[in-house]
Amino acid sequence: MKFDTQKQQHHHHTTIVHQIIIVYYFYTTTTSTTSTTTLSTNIFILYLVNKYNQLSLPFVVKDRMKDLIEATNTYLESYQPLTLVAATAGITAASVALIKTLSDGDFQKNIQKKFFSAVKNVPAVKQEIKKQRSKVKETLKKSFNTDTTNPHYVLPENGVAHSQILAEMQKLMEKDETKWGTSKVSGCVYLGETEHTELLNKAYALFSLSNPLHPGVFPSIRKFETESIAMVANMMNGHPKVVGAMTSGGTESIFMAVKAYRDFYADKTSHPEIVVPVTIHAAFDKACGYLGIKIVHIPFGDDYKVDIAALRKAINKNTIMIAGSAVNFPHGIIDDIETLSKIALEHDIGLHVDACLGGFVIPFAEELGYDIPVFDFRLQGVTSMSVDTHKFGYAAKGTSVVLFGKPKLRRSMYFTAPNWPGGIYASPTMPGSRPGGLVAACWASLVAQGHQGFKSKVESIMQTTKIILKGLKEIEGIQIIGDPKAMVVAFTCENIFFLNDLMSHKGWHLNALQKPDSVHICVTAKHIGMGETFVQDVRDSMKELKSMDKLPTDGMAPIYGTASSVPDRDLIGVILSDFIDTLITPDQQQNKSSASPSEKQQ
Ligand SMILES: *Cc1c(COP(=O)(O)O)cnc(C)c1O
Repeated sequence: MKFDTQKQQHHHHTTIVHQIIIVYYFYTTTTSTTSTTTLSTNIFILYLVNKYNQLSLPFVVKDRMKDLIEATNTYLESYQPLTLVAATAGITAASVALIKTLSDGDFQKNIQKKFFSAVKNVPAVKQEIKKQRSKVKETLKKSFNTDTTNPHYVLPENGVAHSQILAEMQKLMEKDETKWGTSKVSGCVYLGETEHTELLNKAYALFSLSNPLHPGVFPSIRKFETESIAMVANMMNGHPKVVGAMTSGGTESIFMAVKAYRDFYADKTSHPEIVVPVTIHAAFDKACGYLGIKIVHIPFGDDYKVDIAALRKAINKNTIMIAGSAVNFPHGIIDDIETLSKIALEHDIGLHVDACLGGFVIPFAEELGYDIPVFDFRLQGVTSMSVDTHKFGYAAKGTSVVLFGKPKLRRSMYFTAPNWPGGIYASPTMPGSRPGGLVAACWASLVAQGHQGFKSKVESIMQTTKIILKGLKEIEGIQIIGDPKAMVVAFTCENIFFLNDLMSHKGWHLNALQKPDSVHICVTAKHIGMGETFVQDVRDSMKELKSMDKLPTDGMAPIYGTASSVPDRDLIGVILSDFIDTLITPDQQQNKSSASPSEKQQ
């Protein structure tokens, strides 16, 4: 099947549509489920009938369509708006399923894309998608729970008294704290110990006006920065050549590493590519998107580590870097860094180890005798690493460290502007001005915990994880993803997202994952001592789930379920952009501005 010209495209559509409708007629007469897929298929077919009503369809088929309209309308009434959008997204899912049965199986990606956009261009579909999208925005707006009782959309004419500001902020903060104050949020707040938090706040307050961009004015910040980098490098078994930089977080650390490789290998290729596990953090995709680099994702093997043979095959003359995680975000798995190191050396390319999440856990777990493979600068092929101080380093949010195995590579990260009228200008990382207060707070955190502080917390975190892992394995129907060696445990079961919703009712905030559908808990210091409670809550939720004779239509589960199964990822992207629109637009302004990303795309 090929869409060469406009005319041919239309012709093919008409024939395909004809076939779909007839095939679908037979399909609906033989099945009677009312799943979301069936619903979306119904909607899709109805649009097609609408659009191509000049088609000469057999009478029985037309009659069946009337029944479908009625059934679908009744069904739609009982649905939440969010589910509906997911279902609308599912329209294209269903269309592919049907088209697949009609094509010869050789269904190329770009044809799929063309087909999706053709479906979305059917006026009725377009209209429906638009309607559902605005419904979703409305629902999202409510779900953010933002207090808008005393808004400032313009500057107050006269400044507000400090005492009044602080009283108001105190109230708002207490409301937030009800969300994370309990010990049941996965990741997110990593320590939350009052004394430690007070230290961070005091350190920040002492240096809140400082800016590392002006080292002459703030010599102390340079001490905190260089020493923090050195302490982290030492934890990663950095050899004498290892150097680094401080960034605003894991994403920036990864971004700067990828940028460094691009410039370091500029003579080798002007079409740089990186080859990474599919489980690597999305920050790599983001970096490549911004930097104009091709990213090649490699699937994982049975052990959920990156498939080494596939990775080897994907390396070509344009490859500048490969990467692995220790541990990866989705499943807490450590890739086979030792083999990746050998491959990097063979090809003379970079190897980045993303230890954003695991950097402050696995070195201590290793020391405590846990089964942790070598993952750091002890391996000769490891040329850069990212380690988040603002996660298990217990620093305030806004710091991370990126390390390089050789100074020349770090120099490729820098930016210099020798000819700017504003003065000669240079900066190591993305920002210009930076918050020196956060650097100070990071240094304070590392020094306050010390080696033994981190180690003893990791000991308790690992014990809690062991309890969770053992407990989950004993629950019938639960499968653990891979063989997690550290503090992230991913698991799944039938209708996992519904289990996740039940866990939410019990106060747990777990991370929903896809491909495969699953959830994870990232055990932090806040969970110490909560292992048994967690296992019991999963056990109880499992019981509840099994006793249900119908799955709920509200909650997040129908959304996750549909969103993860829709093959039209562009449409999901549009809905995600809607999410961001809603997130960062003042509530007051929401209905006035409605830049539509999908319209711009088409
Ligand atoms: C958190 C995380 C990142 C990104 O870090 P941010 O601080 O959120 O920017 C990268 N990789 C892994 C494995 C992570 O867990």
